[in-house]
Amino acid sequence: MATTTKTEGSVPGTAKVPAEAHPLAEESSKIASNISYHACYSPHFSPFKFDREQAYYATAESVRDRLIQQWNETYLHFHKVDPKQTYYLSMEYLQGRALTNAIGNLNIQNAYAEALVKLGHEMENIAEQEKDAALGNGGLGRLASCFLDSMATLNLPAWGYGLRYRYGLFKQRITKEGQEETAEDWLEKFSPWEIVRHDVMFPIRFFGQVEVSPSGSRKWVEGEIIQALAYDVPIPGYKTKNTISLRLWDAKAGAEDFNLFQFNDGQYESAAQFHSRAQQICAVLYPGDTTENGKLLRLKQQYFLCSASLQDIIFRFKERREGKRAWKWSEFPNKVAVQLNDTHPTLAIPELMRILMDNEGLGWNEAWDITKRTIAYTNHTVLPEALEKWSQSVMQKLLPRHMEIIEEIDKRFMAMIRSTRMDLESKLPNMCILDNNPQKPVVRMANLCVVSSHTVNGVAQLHSDILKAELFADYVSIWPTKFQNKTNGITPRRWLRFCSPELSSIITKWLKTDRWITDLDLLSNLRQFADNEELHAEWASAKMANKRLLAQYVLQVTGVSIDPNSLFDIQVKRIHEYKRQLLNILGAVYRYKKLKEMNAEERKKTTARTIMFGGKAFATYTNAKRIVKLVNDVGAVVNNDPDVNKYLKVVFVPNYNVSVAEMLIPGSELSQHISTAGMEASGTSNMKFSLNGCIIIGTLDGANVEIREEIGEENFFLFGAKANEVPRLRKERENGLFKPDPRFEEAKQFIRSGAFGSYDYNLLLESLEGNSGYGRGDYFLVGQDFPSYMDAQARVDEAYKNRKRWLKMSILSTAGSGKFSSDRTIMQYAKEIWNIEACPVP
Ligand SMILES: *Cc1c(COP(=O)(O)O)cnc(C)c1O
Repeated sequence: MATTTKTEGSVPGTAKVPAEAHPLAEESSKIASNISYHACYSPHFSPFKFDREQAYYATAESVRDRLIQQWNETYLHFHKVDPKQTYYLSMEYLQGRALTNAIGNLNIQNAYAEALVKLGHEMENIAEQEKDAALGNGGLGRLASCFLDSMATLNLPAWGYGLRYRYGLFKQRITKEGQEETAEDWLEKFSPWEIVRHDVMFPIRFFGQVEVSPSGSRKWVEGEIIQALAYDVPIPGYKTKNTISLRLWDAKAGAEDFNLFQFNDGQYESAAQFHSRAQQICAVLYPGDTTENGKLLRLKQQYFLCSASLQDIIFRFKERREGKRAWKWSEFPNKVAVQLNDTHPTLAIPELMRILMDNEGLGWNEAWDITKRTIAYTNHTVLPEALEKWSQSVMQKLLPRHMEIIEEIDKRFMAMIRSTRMDLESKLPNMCILDNNPQKPVVRMANLCVVSSHTVNGVAQLHSDILKAELFADYVSIWPTKFQNKTNGITPRRWLRFCSPELSSIITKWLKTDRWITDLDLLSNLRQFADNEELHAEWASAKMANKRLLAQYVLQVTGVSIDPNSLFDIQVKRIHEYKRQLLNILGAVYRYKKLKEMNAEERKKTTARTIMFGGKAFATYTNAKRIVKLVNDVGAVVNNDPDVNKYLKVVFVPNYNVSVAEMLIPGSELSQHISTAGMEASGTSNMKFSLNGCIIIGTLDGANVEIREEIGEENFFLFGAKANEVPRLRKERENGLFKPDPRFEEAKQFIRSGAFGSYDYNLLLESLEGNSGYGRGDYFLVGQDFPSYMDAQARVDEAYKNRKRWLKMSILSTAGSGKFSSDRTIMQYAKEIWNIEACPVP
């Protein structure tokens, strides 16, 4: 808690803090003065108070000054050296809070902490004032953010591009009805971490038509123009001067679009119509797309990101060649690498072709060669419903020139197959880009990416293997070397060093170095101490401290008090049927029923557990919302049942986001990564938990496979069907051959009996019944895996009773997590896909 001294709430003197002899004291005095300066002179607040909120903004602005300085130096250095540079295009970034991270990466924690104390505040309370920048949904966006941290830390010439959504991912509240969504106004006051670049603006065209000149050249004309304005978020590397940019585009109408005549005539709404249309583009992340209008808006967002980013990239490419004699466009791929984070930025492909041909006058072959050598694509899913397909008519209307280019790419691809690979002709209907099904003609974005890029990668070994064997199998024989694996990673700065300082200092002490923060493989040296009792004692006390903090947090946000001596069992991630939160809660229901049936003596012998859930359900995903409600209803009964609530609690932690994750993960002991095998491409929270000494119960899916390999199978609670068994098991079920486990039937029956309230859970449980079909017939194999899941949970209970064994497993989890640093992932991208090298600022 804050030590509220007399300075809090009073006006801080601008330069009253005395300079002291000690270097840290001197530094912190300077910082305190600088913070005070910002509190007094930044125009955002009246200067008569200095509460936590104002202290946060003043501190952030003081840190930002340093970032701007480093950012400028980095930019100038890149400009001078002109290295090949990577541009990471992503519709999502899940940045979380910036203050602690920036101060940590700049390695000025102590000085800032001391400065704030001088001003009557505590760092922790100040950092908590910041709203999460939640410009993403989940794993994919968080991956992009971890990648930026690694690119900066590794001194790579690389930038991120995204959109500056006015409202990020919705805020989740839990009521009696379940999840409720409200707009997350992260820019409510303002963000001190973004710098608007009024001089960086590009026109983005929508609609219009293609004009053909007498010479045959084509040009996209008319329609409407909206301006893309750049906001830069500086991304500092860890203990390096290099500070790169996350450039976010905002949409803006020009003054000429404001109809002054109409306005003066009293027609205020129609006068500002175009302005409001411009604002819609960056209003929200993933607007609902059930309507035609919603679909159009999403496509506009995607094109807006791609066009603005490419215009910017090309502008910089030319700028760096200014005054140089005789440069050639063919050098472009030697200077520019563009990575598409999933298919959302696919339009970068036809946009680059369009600019090169229509604006720069290149021919098709040259433009195509440059495009292919520039673009690389990361696939994140094999779920058929998640593979993007855009209606040809929507695309034609919004982007007529791009539609022509896509048609031409498709035509040439098919001609190439027919002339060189007759054996593949029968596969062409699946391989080509346009699906001309007369009912619903669409553009298949993943196919466009595969055909137009030099490299395609999956995000974990199993996922990349599945891509090659199934989704993209037909292409592999044409381009055998195009397909790669890049197992995801997470940044050890945010996900260990800063979120668990206690555990970090123990690690540093035992490894006798803190180099593990940038060389995570060094963690493997902890293995030799896995049985050391002294380490066990320190490790256990750090874990306990984190569990207590977490228990306080849970009490504060849910009102439920949980026992730090119970096993902390956590499943946090987006709510999705394939992630199987339903399996977890059915297991909890069964556990509750058995506890009820026991006598007091028997209960005492069980392992006490606190099962925590967290995650947001997409607003229109009905079954996911029902799962959220079920978890909360089960919790309400279990937590208030005096017979069992010493041995079991079920808690739903609301509004899961990066900051909540930073609180939950360090306090976790067991975490659940239990997706139906073959459906989770990688997962990254499994890596965060494992790094923090948390043991995983999981299926052989995504990166779980590699985590288990690294930390040892005896330290991983494995259960469930394997990916290659899933098709057969689904078939057997369709043929009525599946016999459910009686425990599974008992758990479902208990819910149906009304034990958790009167809500009709048949609507949810029906998805587990029947024999076939998506959303019926237990497509995600919950019933199939239930018995092996319960057996694995029984092994967990036994293992937890043996404190030494559990601590050893925990240490070995951390020790085996070195591979999952995003530094390793990004180095592989840099060497094997982008062909870029470090460019450290001297
Ligand atoms: C890491 C992270 C995710 C990804 O979680 P998975 O379990 O890999 O799906 C999602 N949301 C947040 C806030 C995260 O930090």
